[in-house]
Amino acid sequence: MSVAPRVSFVSLGCPKALVDSERIITRLRAEGYEIARKHDGADLVVVNTCGFLDSARDESLEAIGTAMKENGKVIVTGCMGATPELIRDKHPNVFAITGPQAYESVMAAVHEAAPPAHDPYLDLLPPQGVKLTPRHYAYLKISEGCNNRCTFCIIPALRGDLVSRPAADVLREAEKLAKAGVKEIMVISQDTSAYGVDIKYAASQWGDREVRAKFLDLSRELGDMGMWVRLHYVYPYPHVADVIPLMAEGKVLPYLDIPFQHASPAVLKNMRRPAHGEKTLDRIRSWREICPDLSIRSTFIVGFPGETEEDFQMLLDWLDEAKIDRAGCFKYEPVGGARSEEMGLAAVPQEVKEARWHRFMQRQQKISAQQQKKKIGKRLPVIIDEANGLSAKGRTKYDAPEIDGSVHIESRRPLRTGDIVTVKIERADAYDLYGITG
Ligand code: SF4
Repeated sequence: MSVAPRVSFVSLGCPKALVDSERIITRLRAEGYEIARKHDGADLVVVNTCGFLDSARDESLEAIGTAMKENGKVIVTGCMGATPELIRDKHPNVFAITGPQAYESVMAAVHEAAPPAHDPYLDLLPPQGVKLTPRHYAYLKISEGCNNRCTFCIIPALRGDLVSRPAADVLREAEKLAKAGVKEIMVISQDTSAYGVDIKYAASQWGDREVRAKFLDLSRELGDMGMWVRLHYVYPYPHVADVIPLMAEGKVLPYLDIPFQHASPAVLKNMRRPAHGEKTLDRIRSWREICPDLSIRSTFIVGFPGETEEDFQMLLDWLDEAKIDRAGCFKYEPVGGARSEEMGLAAVPQEVKEARWHRFMQRQQKISAQQQKKKIGKRLPVIIDEANGLSAKGRTKYDAPEIDGSVHIESRRPLRTGDIVTVKIERADAYDLYGITG
């Protein structure tokens, strides 16, 4: 019997890159490759890189360097693969470089580096593919690329314009995940609310009916599959209001991840954000009227070129009004190739950026703590992420894995990962909740 070639895999970057990694690993496993734990002793290394921020590029280059040192046969894929010269500059001897989602070219490079062994038993693969995320939750990518041109972002340059998957294709994958025991799916893309625009919302055959490639139709169908459905990277367009009733009915989680990025119209305009002209506070108010327990998470950038103290103050006031549940904040970092650097806007000094970041975090932390406190005394469904005898860590419907808070649970009976249990919340801080089952 031939010995299966072993591939060591490094996955860097965001949840979207993780989905790409899962797909490549699924292909590798299907063709009989084994996934090695260490570079040393593997037949080759695949590094799935992130090229979004300069710091992410540095991390990617470092990971490639480590793989070169410990193994020497390295295939680079992912966002940084779109700028091969940057990689070759530092690591001229990498075996191959392929761009983002270039699954075929990654596989071709792998075949060249280490031809597959043919063993029918190794070719067996669970029909849902291989997942890097824990078994009870999974990311579901509905489209690739983006039609927007935010000035700080190079994703459209790296990944191209929006390409949506047909609805039936997405639903088929979701159904496989449900059958494999997944309890929660995170719908991801670069711009979830734009889903289907590129294919003119074309309908595809799903069972006995046709389903249009529309944000609302897809959310409804996914909501009927019995899993928790969480929506990420949604923009505050008017049609987003259509899915809020699904949240109020309990079909889709009452959770929206909306990267607002700022509140000052001048900064948003300089950022060329989608829906920058929308009155976001009014919109949030009307969503909450329909679904009062809607939880909103967002990300913001402080210190964008040209941001004045007045702009920043507007952002703090917006936070006070919007009372969103969670907010991440990034200090603006120039990204090579982004237009924000060529607009002639005044750079915000580093110390001002730092100070604004701290002010933002302090303000939001207070708001998050207030929002969290409202949950004390409630009995909430919690999905278990980690179980350890009679104590466990889980999440409510209001918290996404890896980015939001956890619930620390004491239980009278042992819990298992993936269980959904009712927890009485007894205590809260700005991030986490504490409670007992029953
Ligand atoms: S919406 Fe803007 S920030 Fe998001 S991927 Fe598209 S261009 Fe980049």
